[in-house]
Amino acid sequence: MAKQTPANLSGRGGTIELVELCRIFDDRPAVDGIDLHIPQGELFSVLGPSGCGKTTTLRMIAGFERPNGGRVLIDGVDVTDDPPHRRPVNTVFQSYALFPHLSVADNVGYGLRWRKDVDKAERRAKIGAALELVQLSAFADRRPAQLSGGEQQRVALARALVLQPSVLLLDEPLGALDARLRKSLRQELVGIQREVGITFVFVTHDQEEALELSDRVAVMDHGRVVQCGTPREVYESPQTEFVADFLGVANVLEAACGAPAGGSRRSVTIGSFPLTATEPADLNGNAPEPNSAGKVVIRPERIRLSTPAEAGANQIPGMVDRLVYLGPTTQVVVTLPHGPQIQALVTNDADEQMYPPGTPVTVTFPQDALRLLAPAS
Ligand code: ATP
Repeated sequence: MAKQTPANLSGRGGTIELVELCRIFDDRPAVDGIDLHIPQGELFSVLGPSGCGKTTTLRMIAGFERPNGGRVLIDGVDVTDDPPHRRPVNTVFQSYALFPHLSVADNVGYGLRWRKDVDKAERRAKIGAALELVQLSAFADRRPAQLSGGEQQRVALARALVLQPSVLLLDEPLGALDARLRKSLRQELVGIQREVGITFVFVTHDQEEALELSDRVAVMDHGRVVQCGTPREVYESPQTEFVADFLGVANVLEAACGAPAGGSRRSVTIGSFPLTATEPADLNGNAPEPNSAGKVVIRPERIRLSTPAEAGANQIPGMVDRLVYLGPTTQVVVTLPHGPQIQALVTNDADEQMYPPGTPVTVTFPQDALRLLAPAS
């Protein structure tokens, strides 16, 4: 097949707006009033544990599921009542569902057969461009059974892209692949999305995948979006304990909230030690009251350990309990004077000092990394 330029497939990404979207199954809300705005050309992930409503949300955008309430708008047009084929949307599922008796090229071009506005020559050109985009030009004549799992998933992606939707929905598209292949395909997906410019909405329960792939991430729990932001925002500034825990390892500590300390800073007391933390960015008028019981979170890689002599601000003394070797880093578990244990990550480079179990240490909680959580609503 002649080489085609992927520009043949570049599309105009669509904007998606979900307004108070709800879906109830057997009297239980699977999706419970979601509001989201996904701008044109964004690679947007919906992340959450099994059963939190990710697929149901995606199916309502695609038109496979009818909402019980709320609206779906694409490019400003209300498509809530439109069937799937009337929406400028295509979906890639975890199971690729390729036709086993058709070649790779025919699988990719299958949906174009029904398009009266695409003649045979244009169809061939688009198929060629799609195969080039997913780096499968050399496999055009093979059958799906002659491909690896990752290659089959790339065929499924090409089959969706060839139709040039404004929005591509991807439901755990890498879920059936082994860890190494998932990792390499993630970056390919990002590259393809940048090249075609289509809005991608990607569903996953894998936090690492969502952080690595996305422009923005919506974290879902029990049918609701609990936080939405860039990967850095949701990882470094989790608003709730659920988000902190779901996105990697988090040290969550009980704290007494003190008075505002200027700017976004807040005095807190952990055990009997006064420290300063950063307040949550988006409180919606739900700020922790002074003198209330609250929680603070800090990621293990942001904690600093030093010997007791090295004094400074925002510190608590501790005792090293145990070390867990993790290859590039060592996890140091430290017990604080009032009982709780925290994990710190120390890089295993030659300069880094390692403290054996039983060593008294000073634990520094940098103020920008120590974050007060929003009160549970
Ligand atoms: P997973 O990661 O396991 O795919 P998910 O976050 O995509 O989970 P959904 O598939 O959206 O979750 O399901 C959300 C909730 O709705 C679950 O409790 C599920 O059992 C329920 N549910 C989904 N589809 C139906 C259905 N057709 N009938 C009844 N309940 C359903």
